Amino acid sequence: MMQIEDAVSALVDQINPLTSCEVCSLINAAGRILGEDITAGISVPSFPKSAMDGYAVRSSDIARASAEKPVKLQVLDCLYAGDKVPEALIQMRSLEGCAVRIMTGAAVPEGFDTVVKQEDTDLGEDTVSICKPQKPFMNYCKVGEDIAEGTLVLKRGMFIGRSEIGVLASLGVPEVRVVRKLRIAIISTGSELVDVGWKLDEAQIYNSIEYTLAAALNKPAFEAVFMSVPDDEDEIRNTLKKAEETSDIIITTGGVSVGERDLLPKVLEKLGAQVVFSGVNVKPGSPTVGAVLNGKVLLCLSGNPYAAVANFDLYMGHIIAAKTGCLAFVPVREKAVLESEFNKPANVRRLVRARVSSGRVTILNKNQMSSVLSSFIGANCYIDFPQDFTVSKGDEVDIIRIPEALQ
Ligand code: AMP
Ligand code: MG
Repeated sequence: MMQIEDAVSALVDQINPLTSCEVCSLINAAGRILGEDITAGISVPSFPKSAMDGYAVRSSDIARASAEKPVKLQVLDCLYAGDKVPEALIQMRSLEGCAVRIMTGAAVPEGFDTVVKQEDTDLGEDTVSICKPQKPFMNYCKVGEDIAEGTLVLKRGMFIGRSEIGVLASLGVPEVRVVRKLRIAIISTGSELVDVGWKLDEAQIYNSIEYTLAAALNKPAFEAVFMSVPDDEDEIRNTLKKAEETSDIIITTGGVSVGERDLLPKVLEKLGAQVVFSGVNVKPGSPTVGAVLNGKVLLCLSGNPYAAVANFDLYMGHIIAAKTGCLAFVPVREKAVLESEFNKPANVRRLVRARVSSGRVTILNKNQMSSVLSSFIGANCYIDFPQDFTVSKGDEVDIIRIPEALQ
């Protein structure tokens, strides 16, 4: 059986990247994937700016200032944030011995190279006394100190979060090109499934996976559609065909194992899907199938909720990355020290839900059965135990973070 990493890369190799973009107003771009490189069209700030309430002065004028011999400067004007520097000030031949009263955010007139904060002065109105020297460019934001005009600020494929929106706003960008929403179809298969809000009949269960994946995918970057079908070959086939016509990615849950009503493998064969892998060396989720149907990637997950959700986490981020260039949904692997005992080795690689914090990982719930969803509560990672492992508390283990962007 394949390793998950090989299965992921075999599937990802089949993916054609999404090339279409759309224009989106800045505020609506939050949560979308950037479809273009952004180069700064202006410098931020675009004028030299005071970082303090105080006095703009020439550092050379106060070089010899001391408590015993304060330097007295003539105050020419007072500038507030948003004020244009008066023409008279610009035209002055020499500013020697002069200062300008200035507030935070106001433009520092040319000729002054440092801002003395008002606490370090006598707060004079016509003249101001300064009793210590100050280096040039103190309390002084240079042009482009934040972003210099022409800098490549954001790259195509970046996830647009609040910081990116803020930076774009500081550049005055009113709209951006974003990757068009990724269309994801989730098809739940199983005659026992009932939607929440309905009463369960005997032997029925609620479709908990659909809700889990909906919570993960109901994000601005995606357009997820959900369909539920009974274990019926024709219905599964028709639903898959419909999904293939309208979606970029298709995920199915259930019916992928070896039971008599596990119809996915048969339907895939009849539809002429190209099976990329079938069966993975991992517990839970060993029956997972990856396929391509008319150029669309198909990921068929087990119906066991833990198996479905864990494998969704392992594949989905890579599929999104291959489609859009965005890495925000890719699970990250790291090391952590095991804080719990866990002595249930398996003859396959095993993923165990756990919680990692400050490099220490705790198994919150010993019940790790693939049918159990509730052990996910509080978990933020999977411990990746190799086949036939033996570990003890205190050992270093590999963990895979559940991508925050999918939680
Ligand atoms: P299957 O993969 O179809 O053999 O299903 C494995 C187990 O998962 C069975 O007990 C199913 O009833 C259950 N199951 C299948 N689909 C879902 C679902 N969407 N939500 C919750 N449980 C499911
Ligand atoms: Mg089933």
